[in-house]
Amino acid sequence: MDTAIDGRTAGEIRPNPVLVEHLLDYFRRVGTARSVIALSLLAVAIFMLLSYSSYLIFDRKRMSAGPVPVLSSGITGPMQAYAWSQDNSVELERGWISVGDTVRDLAGALGMDSDTVGKTISTYNSYCARGHDSDFGRDASDLTPLDAPPFYAIRMWPGGMNTQGGAKRNEKAQVLNVDGDPIAGLYSAGEFGSIFGLLYAGGGNISECIAFGRIAGENAATRKV
Ligand SMILES: Cc1cc2nc3c(=O)[nH]c(=O)nc-3n(C[C@H](O)[C@H](O)[C@H](O)COP(=O)(O)OP(=O)(O)OC[C@H]3O[C@@H](n4cnc5c(N)ncnc54)[C@H](O)[C@@H]3O)c2cc1C
Repeated sequence: MDTAIDGRTAGEIRPNPVLVEHLLDYFRRVGTARSVIALSLLAVAIFMLLSYSSYLIFDRKRMSAGPVPVLSSGITGPMQAYAWSQDNSVELERGWISVGDTVRDLAGALGMDSDTVGKTISTYNSYCARGHDSDFGRDASDLTPLDAPPFYAIRMWPGGMNTQGGAKRNEKAQVLNVDGDPIAGLYSAGEFGSIFGLLYAGGGNISECIAFGRIAGENAATRKV
């Protein structure tokens, strides 16, 4: 959304709790009509995010090979915020995993066009037989045919392991206010206020966390109160 809010584009307003503060302040100042427009745009953004889902489709071979998600990280990982069943049976029972005797049946269960899904899977299987994916160049060692019924699907949404954006900090690790001036006595380290802004740092987080942890600590410790 490039719509200007209070003179700033949405890209300049960080999508995190700080954004909520900006928006509440904005609503207070601009009144109902413009607030409704802004809220509508926000709703569209949330709707778009929720709409960007896809399905992971797999067959009995994968289903019986163990837990479908990666258990070494994420919500099902070491923290075990959710303990995924070893044979996926609990998740099947819960309806998180859809099932169909054929690919077309599965597509029907997902509310998708059976012809399109059937064609997609048969094309993919033909690439597996050939050992060459002419659509996406998927590595030959990774071309495993989906040919053992029943067929399963899990709905997936884009997610991430990073929080991007938030208040900015300067080279002294001082947190800046909306006008770009340092807020006295407030320093930030870690992901919060990353110099990468809204961009995913691509593995560069921890080095920045260490560097700015040191800078913030030194500057905070030497600050004259
Ligand atoms: C699965 C995964 C893989 C990653 N891989 C990489 C990678 O390869 N390379 C890389 O650079 N980065 C990676 N990251 C990102 C990196 O781990 C984070 O950017 C970094 O750890 C953020 O550090 P932080 O200090 O800002 O926050 P955190 O590490 O989240 O630390 C915040 C701390 O504050 C504590 N806390 C929260 N609330 C309170 C409270 N009210 N009172 C007291 N304490 C509180 C939390 O318990 C936590 O210990 C990965 C992240 C994930 C999740």
